[in-house]
Amino acid sequence: MIKYKSAEQIELMRESAQLVSKTLGMLAPLVVPGAIPLELDKKAEEFIRDHGGEPGFLGMYGFPNSLCMSPNAHVVHGIPGKSPLLEGDIISVDCGVFMNGYYGDHAYTFPIGGVDAATAQLLEDTKASLYAGIREVRLGNRIGDIGAAIQEYTESRGYGVVRELVGHGLGQKMHEEPQVPNYGKRGRGKKIQEGLVIAIEPMINLGTQRIKQLDDGWTILTADGKNSAHFEHDVAVVNGAPEILSTFQYIYDALGMEPAEYENL
Ligand code: MG
Ligand code: MG
Repeated sequence: MIKYKSAEQIELMRESAQLVSKTLGMLAPLVVPGAIPLELDKKAEEFIRDHGGEPGFLGMYGFPNSLCMSPNAHVVHGIPGKSPLLEGDIISVDCGVFMNGYYGDHAYTFPIGGVDAATAQLLEDTKASLYAGIREVRLGNRIGDIGAAIQEYTESRGYGVVRELVGHGLGQKMHEEPQVPNYGKRGRGKKIQEGLVIAIEPMINLGTQRIKQLDDGWTILTADGKNSAHFEHDVAVVNGAPEILSTFQYIYDALGMEPAEYENL
């Protein structure tokens, strides 16, 4: 059953989402060659607790850390390790917060220094596909419209769309109904209603859509070893239209970037 949120609940969820955004912004200048993922994970945990939240991922389903950090061909659910980041790598940083009874959950894929042109384009196109999906989150549409938009945007550019892992409803639980696939058919699935809050999170591969799992029981990686990108926002339906509760602005401020045109809904 989908748990639609009141305006008051959405305000609380915005605070949880914004603490994730601030955590990613704090990390952004530290995601550089030589950085140790496990040390960044500890910094994130400290930052979240200092700001009145609890790490949302730590201990969830037995996950050992506060961040999922997934470099290069790792798609999602990577465990922060002790190997330093290298120039030319990319890394998806997915962060969860639990605060005031509600979860925030969002992610950004960072380039480590300069990356090759195809990978830079993958990052840009995956982020743009997230916004293409968000634009569909309005009254009159259905859940399938979100995935269809993401799939159309990315497959037309030759990328692989991961099927096995999907976005989700968000609230007092990290994973609520409905599932929000990154592929689908227009006009299919549940109707989008006022108060829906979902995490939309395209996982897009440079090559094949197929994935496999490491024997750590967590890490998902591409079957062909090519790079994968992952961007995630928390989105509410307010007055019939999408409202993004999380923001990349703290990351942009930290890195001296401007939002892209497509980020204006
Ligand atoms: Mg996430
Ligand atoms: Mg999520």
